[in-house]
Order: sequence, then C-alpha cells, then structure tokens
Amino acid sequence: TSFGFQQVKEEEKSKLVGNVFTNVASSYDIMNDVMSAGLHRLWKERLVGKLSPFAGMKHLDVAGGTGDVAFRIFDAVNSVKRRALRKVDEASLEETQIYVCDINPNMLNVGKQRAADRGLRDNKSLVWVEGDAEALSFDDNSMDGYTIAFGIRNVTHIEKALAEAYRVLKRGGRFLCLELSHVDIPVFKELYDLYSFQERFAKMIGDAGFEKVEYENLVGGLRNLAGVRRR
Ligand code: SAM
Repeated sequence: TSFGFQQVKEEEKSKLVGNVFTNVASSYDIMNDVMSAGLHRLWKERLVGKLSPFAGMKHLDVAGGTGDVAFRIFDAVNSVKRRALRKVDEASLEETQIYVCDINPNMLNVGKQRAADRGLRDNKSLVWVEGDAEALSFDDNSMDGYTIAFGIRNVTHIEKALAEAYRVLKRGGRFLCLELSHVDIPVFKELYDLYSFQERFAKMIGDAGFEKVEYENLVGGLRNLAGVRRR
C-alpha cells in the first residue's frame, strides 16, 4: 500500500497482530471500554445508525472480533420500535443473517460465549466465521452490508480487503468502516501512521470501485467512512 507502515515487515505485522489478539481475547471488551473511556459504544452506535439495518438483510462484519458490532446490528434489526415502525413480519426477521468474520478463533469464541450469555447460542441470524478479510469465503453479490470497525489497520494488504468487500457486496450494498484517524502513542506510531492519510484511504475505497464515498469525523479522533457499491 502507499501508507507509511512498511517499516513493519508484512510477515512481522501479521504475526504481531495475531499474537496481540490471541492474548487479549478474553479481556478485549473490558480493554475497549477502558481505552476509549466507553466512547467506542457511541462510535459503534453511529456506525450501525449509518448502516440502517433491516429485517432479512445479509450483513458481513469483518474483523468482527467478539461480535460487538454484530450484536448492535442484531439488536437494531430486532428492536421492538423498529419492528413496529417498519411493520416487519417474523418470517423476514428470521431470514436476517449477520456474519461475524475474524481471523482469530479466540476472539470468535469470546463472541460465541457472549451470544450464549444473551440467550442467542442457537440463534440462526448470527453466524461466526473464521476467515481473512483479504480472502473471504462468501459468494459474489451476496451481502447487503459490510462493516469493518477498528480492523482495516490490521489488514496487511488493504487493497485486497477492499476488493473483497466490493466483490461480496450486492449492487447498492454498503461498505462502512470505523477507524482511528490518528493515535498519539509513540510506540504504535508506525502502525497507526496510516491514519494521518485518511483522505488517501477514502481515495482507495473509491479506487476499489465504490461510489458516493464519504467520511465524517467523530469525537476522539475517530472516522467513519462509508462507500456505496457502484450500481
Ligand atoms: N471489530 C471489533 C470491535 O470493534 O470491537 C474488533 C476489533 S479488533 C481491534 C481487530 C480484530 O481484527 C481482531 O479481532 C483481529 O483478530 C482481527 N483481524 C486482524 N487481521 C484480520 C484479517 N486479515 N482478517 C480478519 N480479521 C482480522
């Protein structure tokens, strides 16, 4: 990529990322709350708000980790208020599929446990899939939505991940990315440098074929990026 993190060799980066998430899986959600002072909840709500989930949708949350974004999408689809407003029928509700895709099985296992704790162990709308953002196992034109929250920075070849997002989305399907625009912790500087180039990232999304690419700044140096697949 054209971003400034080549200093970290690709192989080392994948290994580093893998190890980080294996070690933190069990405490990941608490860590998230502490490190963002709970703000990640607001950011994720905003992300889901932008997505406008609907009953019967096929959605893919990549780098989905412990399912934090997926649960929010699930809750939005199933919210009593939304169901009443949209006069949703139970059949289409049951057809909803939210795939949580992550490269790290430990993160997914924590997510599955969270689902069980919520009484959703056997719920067919939530599907946990081990997989790489750069080589997705899903069919072409199969998804209404694609989200990636705090995940694109971990991907080694961002272009490949974007091409895959484009491939699996249906025409008009939406790509949404939540990411840090900058981080001021020197130790992680190399890894996070790319976020000072967010406009270029927006351009990459456009180059992948998405249209109507837009981004918004959120409180705390966060950015929400959205692209709509070309019609
Ligand atoms: N999206 C979740 C959230 O916001 O709470 C988790 C974000 S966590 C910071 C990043 C996740 O990306 C980890 O669970 C990690 O295993 C996953 N990941 C890293 N590289 C990946 C790749 N190439 N494909 C899929 N997932 C990946």
